[in-house]
Amino acid sequence: MNNCITKKVEFKNEKVLKYLPGSSERLELESALEEMQNSFLEIPVIIGGKEIKTGNKQKCIIPHDHKKIIGEYHLAGEKEAKMAIEAALKAKQTWETLPWEHRVSIFLKAAELATGPWRAKLNAATMLTQSKTYKQAEIDSVCELADFLRYNAACLHEIYSNQPISTQNVINRIEYRPLEGFIFAVSPFNFTSIASNLPGAPAIAGNTIVWKPASSAVYSAYLVYQLFKEAGLPDGVINFIPARSSDISNTILCNENLSGIHFTGSTEVFQDMWKTVGENITNYKSFPRLVGETGGKNYVIAHPSADIQALSKLLVEGAFEYQGQKCSAASRAYIPKSIWNNCKDNLIQEVSKIKVGDVTEFTNFMGAVIDAKSFNNIKKYIEFAKNSKDAQIIFGGNCDDSKGYFIEPTIILTSNPHFKTMKEEIFGPVLTIYLYEDEEFEEILDLAANTSKYGLTGSIFAEDPYVLVKAEQALTHTAGNFYLNTRPTGAVVGQQPFGGSRLSGTNDKAGSKLNLMRWISPRTITEKLA
Ligand code: NAD
Repeated sequence: MNNCITKKVEFKNEKVLKYLPGSSERLELESALEEMQNSFLEIPVIIGGKEIKTGNKQKCIIPHDHKKIIGEYHLAGEKEAKMAIEAALKAKQTWETLPWEHRVSIFLKAAELATGPWRAKLNAATMLTQSKTYKQAEIDSVCELADFLRYNAACLHEIYSNQPISTQNVINRIEYRPLEGFIFAVSPFNFTSIASNLPGAPAIAGNTIVWKPASSAVYSAYLVYQLFKEAGLPDGVINFIPARSSDISNTILCNENLSGIHFTGSTEVFQDMWKTVGENITNYKSFPRLVGETGGKNYVIAHPSADIQALSKLLVEGAFEYQGQKCSAASRAYIPKSIWNNCKDNLIQEVSKIKVGDVTEFTNFMGAVIDAKSFNNIKKYIEFAKNSKDAQIIFGGNCDDSKGYFIEPTIILTSNPHFKTMKEEIFGPVLTIYLYEDEEFEEILDLAANTSKYGLTGSIFAEDPYVLVKAEQALTHTAGNFYLNTRPTGAVVGQQPFGGSRLSGTNDKAGSKLNLMRWISPRTITEKLA
């Protein structure tokens, strides 16, 4: 008999471990890295809990040592996409009626596993196949992943507790139903935590999922699937189908039972999916919920009153951590001429400290970019700057893909505030700086607000409080995550709910009540007593 009204579990962010030489976590991680590098993982498609080997295979490479292959995965096609939808719909019947505490406890158990016995394995996979340093892997594949799972559980408790007023002769309640149909989760390469949250958030609310991970991050995504399975997730709740998107997308997006898309990735891909859904809108059984967190062209604006040392240090961290492949990475900066000489010296000093290389050497700050396509794309932007009369490369600019896809941290100085690299998302270690006359500060706010189509993150550096207030107002619609006197990256679950507007996405704030509400369709139940 279950008649408990449980108390909410207080949420606490997972502590980031330090991995000091000789520490137990460091030794465990080194041994997991060694083992993973010397073994080969075959990754199947998983539908309704059954492993399927299609024979159509792709390799899992190490971006910083791209000739090294540590696994391969089977690709799903149209047939498997249809099977995955069937499996999700079948599992839905039992999953949505499972008492919610049991659903939640599976994901809470996954968080315990991720921060305990799975910690080293998740970190090692993210380091090797996404080329993250140990620090970046730890904050992503362990801490943020566990935070998403635990915070979603706490938020769901809050949502379910929110009940309407009843009167003496009328009892009202709200049942927070999951959506009818299945959810299509499509994840990006750059965060293992996001890969887990895209299927995980709708699933905890009672939905069932068809999940397509990014091709360059299938290895870590598969471990996430296995983690959920070990935590007790029933078969068919999440169906794992690595695939070429062109082979499966239309089959899934045009299915009449599609009830939602949970996407993180580039703006253009999300627009494409939205367009397909729009074209098919009369074929669905409901209105699919479209949730997408997409690209960014994040700014840092310094005021003449800025603390130059803090600005330089945080700008370098914000632009170059994880090779600039965070959606929130600082990629354009506006600096007043009066502080530039001083700031430039500090910046060059900071960026000169960065070591780029194999992430299994724990002293490196940057690894490789994710793949050849990305390497070539970033290189093209750097070449463009090298050949332009409007720009000058003041640091870095070299690219070398002989062993891994390495790109130096690169700083471009431009005299054109609308220069290509001030406007377009590059998704690599490239920061462009524009210098302005001190008295033009207000115009600069306006310029920064209207230079790019995105609205994800932004920072203002100023010691003057009136300036902070003015900037906050002038930049209202330019960023879903706005920072004062710090870098525009590093949002923490529960502390800085994350997401942007404009063409940066639907701003449903991943890992929050706002996001979970998108996977719920409330039913109000009224009983008249007399
Ligand atoms: P991407 O758009 O190339 O791919 C994302 C996912 O979409 C992958 O699984 C990919 O295979 C799939 N995909 C590609 N074409 C598709 C199609 N036509 N139909 C269906 N699925 C398709 O993005 P990426 O390179 O993996 O990630 C980088 C992008 O993600 C950047 O633009 C970055 O800003 C964005 N991002 C945003 C956030 C955020 O919270 N706003 C977070 C992380 C990444």
